[in-house]
Amino acid sequence: MQDKALVFDLDNTLYYDGDSEVEKKENAKIVNFLKQKLHLSVAKAHNFMSDARSRGLYDVDAVTPDMPFTKREFMDNVCDVDVGFLPRNERLNQLLRELPQRKFIITDGISKRVRAVLSSIAVDEDNFEGIFDGHDMNYVFKRNPQAFEMFLQKYNLRAKDCVLFEDSLVNLQTAKKLGFTTVLISPEKTRDYPFVDKYFSDIVTALEDLTK
Ligand SMILES: [Mg+2]
Repeated sequence: MQDKALVFDLDNTLYYDGDSEVEKKENAKIVNFLKQKLHLSVAKAHNFMSDARSRGLYDVDAVTPDMPFTKREFMDNVCDVDVGFLPRNERLNQLLRELPQRKFIITDGISKRVRAVLSSIAVDEDNFEGIFDGHDMNYVFKRNPQAFEMFLQKYNLRAKDCVLFEDSLVNLQTAKKLGFTTVLISPEKTRDYPFVDKYFSDIVTALEDLTK
C-alpha cells in the first residue's frame, strides 16, 4: 500500500460522529427543504426524507421524481450543516503531513462541507491534491462505479494504484470491483468481508500502520 495514492471518504472516515449529529442535522435540513419546496406537512416531508435515505444517502430524486428544484440546490442546502463541534485531530494532520503519498478526498457530499470539516478537525486542506464531491460525480454517488471512474479520470489515476479509506461497505464493494485496495474504517468490525483488504478502528490507526 506504500506506493499507492490515498483516497479518503469524508464523513465517518476522516472523523467519527458516534452520535450521528451530522446526519441528524442533515435529516432536519432535508425535511425542512422538502416541506418548503413541495409544500408538504412536516410528517409527509419526514416520510419522503426517510424514503430517500433508505435508498441512498441523498437519493431525493428517487422519491420526488417531478421535483421542482435541482439536485445541486438540494445538495447545497442539506449538506450545509454546522460541523464546528467536531474535535481537532492534530495527530491526523501530522500523519497526513508526513506521509509522502498523493492524497485525495472523495465524498458523496459537497466540497463546502469538506472544507468546514477540515477546518473543525484542524486538518490542512493542502494535504490533499483534490476534493471530488457529489457535484463532480453528477450525483451518481459512490455506490455506483461511475462515481469512482469519473474521479480516476479527473486525476489521471488507475484504481489499482489507489487505496480507498471508507466506512461504507457498499462503497468499498464498488471500489474493490474496480480494482482499488480497500480499507474499512469502523469502530466495530462485525466480520470479514471479501471486498475489504484491511480493517482499522479509526483513520489515525490506519495511517500509523502505513508509516511502519
Ligand atoms: Mg462515510
